[in-house]
Amino acid sequence: MYPHLFQPITIGHLTLKNRILMGSMHTGLEDQVQGFEKLAVFYAERAREGLQLIVTGGFGVNEYALGMPEHAEFSTLCTPEQAARHRLITEAVHAEGSHILMQVLHVGRYDHGSGGVSPSSVESKLSNRSSRELSSAQIEQIIDDYVRCACLARDAGYDGVEIMGGEGYLINQFLAPLTNFREDQWGGNAEGRSRFALRIVQGIRAAMPSDFVISFRLSLMDLVEHGSHWNEVQELARKLEASGVDLINTSVGWHEARIPTVAMVVPRAAFSWAAQQLKQVVSIPVVASNRINTPEVADDLIAQGHADMVAMARPFLADPAFVRKAQSGQSASINTCIACNQACLDRIFTRQQVSCLVNPRACRELEWPQEKAPTVKKIAVLGAGPAGLACAREAAERGHSVTLFEPSIRIGGQFFLAQKIPGKEELAETLRYFENEIQRLGIELRLNTTPDVQALSQFDHVVVASGVVPRRSGIEGENNAKVVDYIEALRSPRFLGERVAIVGAGPLGFDMAELLAHCKSEDGSIPAFEREWGVDEMRELRGSVKTPQKSDSPRQLWLLQRSKQPMGSNLPTTTGWIRRTRLKKKSARMFNEVDYVHIDDNGLHLRIRGEQRCLSVDNIVVCAGQEAHNPWSARLQAHNIAHTVIGGARDAHKIDAARAIKEGAELGRQL
Ligand code: SF4
Repeated sequence: MYPHLFQPITIGHLTLKNRILMGSMHTGLEDQVQGFEKLAVFYAERAREGLQLIVTGGFGVNEYALGMPEHAEFSTLCTPEQAARHRLITEAVHAEGSHILMQVLHVGRYDHGSGGVSPSSVESKLSNRSSRELSSAQIEQIIDDYVRCACLARDAGYDGVEIMGGEGYLINQFLAPLTNFREDQWGGNAEGRSRFALRIVQGIRAAMPSDFVISFRLSLMDLVEHGSHWNEVQELARKLEASGVDLINTSVGWHEARIPTVAMVVPRAAFSWAAQQLKQVVSIPVVASNRINTPEVADDLIAQGHADMVAMARPFLADPAFVRKAQSGQSASINTCIACNQACLDRIFTRQQVSCLVNPRACRELEWPQEKAPTVKKIAVLGAGPAGLACAREAAERGHSVTLFEPSIRIGGQFFLAQKIPGKEELAETLRYFENEIQRLGIELRLNTTPDVQALSQFDHVVVASGVVPRRSGIEGENNAKVVDYIEALRSPRFLGERVAIVGAGPLGFDMAELLAHCKSEDGSIPAFEREWGVDEMRELRGSVKTPQKSDSPRQLWLLQRSKQPMGSNLPTTTGWIRRTRLKKKSARMFNEVDYVHIDDNGLHLRIRGEQRCLSVDNIVVCAGQEAHNPWSARLQAHNIAHTVIGGARDAHKIDAARAIKEGAELGRQL
């Protein structure tokens, strides 16, 4: 299977059996007292499953490099004592026959505390603070810090380092005119701006034996105005190779870029064409990254000559056994990363420990060993939405005999409907995974079936995962024929008119607005994505950004909410801005501080910040939240049947797939 992906490759002195690199990802464990034990187990499990080359999350090159001095003891590498701690990780990975590089990082102005440092003093859109300009002496000191950090990484047993030169961090800040307008040797022109990066590489190469791998994370497209020009990127790549870099791992976009690079709306492998262009100018291996999440896509990229290797980070949170399953022809059983960011990147940006929406065991491997249950039980699960599916899967994996009852004709619940929302098509992968797991684990699936309580009394334990129902709006006149709930609208959006008001602007309301504003021309292809967001595929403009194309919505939309909060402020950090931007481009009208008065045949009567209006719309879609749907507990209790309620059926407040799957899997583990 996947002959190109499983072809050996040599990186420096390392010979790898496959061309998959686990990309760097900060997990939050790096900052914790017991974090290194957990990281060792986390990486070793992935190595055991066939990964040949891993890059750690970024470790700071000095005490201030990550802007988190309170975590510096664990998340930086500046002393031999700290290096000794890393041996847990390197020895665990090497014991599995795999290799590991440590990423060396300085965030520069992406420092959320003090504003950080950068080549020139400039405000960061990420931290909203101005950075302090580095003096020449400070720059020299930081270069020394990089070299010291790499030496300590070698002492700790790493096979090499990856120098983070992309994503808008300090090295990238030196490279781009946006953040470097110095006139001294560290700026002035492309040669001056690249001096910092090259001095770091040269310093590390000179201090290291030749068998120590140096990978450089190079930004192919900054996707910010006044970013690097493509000609400068090519020239830098040539110089990096000449300076002793063994591998170029590509990256795309700064954290403050207003073009999505890793979210679900980004087509798979959307930027691999840029890696292919880079391959023309260097002879060392080039790695493609961003939105590569299946072995089919990865193999295809290598087959087409887009890259020598592929980097995947989040897919290894979603499924530690990705490599083994792909190689052994079991790709249908891969738990695919759906690029939701909900349990990984969104948590990083709020300084929480990372996990994964589709695999809540991720980063908890030490406390969550994969063990069989001591006694086999008969388990009934009522409801095949995300919570029920996750519970059934985990319980069956542990050896229990599981019957999954679902009153409708298919699995997935609201998750099934949500895959219709533009940009959420990846949800189909999770349903495919669960379908496969039901078969693989021998779970008895009873669709279109509501068991009677008598039948349930035959089980040792019953799990109630009956989900949620839409909450009614409570607006006078809500029984008018114009009004539909979000489930009805998701099932049959084509029956809605051209003028639609959406009541409720939480995640459900935004989903609905995206569905109703969708145009046929937005076909999910890479060219359509580039037009929509303004990616300069000709590489003529700095940062590869151009003016995005506007595409009109086929409907006039009003998105409304009662609260005073800014619209969409409760959407997730890494994807909320994408959804707000998309709807603004479609000219959707968004209003907060709305008082709903009543609904009649003329439309929706309301007050917007005190001003009385009537929106004469064809339909009003109610996205006012959800209520727990639990018709079971009282009946099960009355018959003394042991049961547990999970997911939205337990608590509908802010229920989402991440919590539903986590609750389901955790219960499955305890049964
Ligand atoms: Fe992928 Fe979502 Fe899991 Fe993150 S939380 S690894 S994006 S599936």
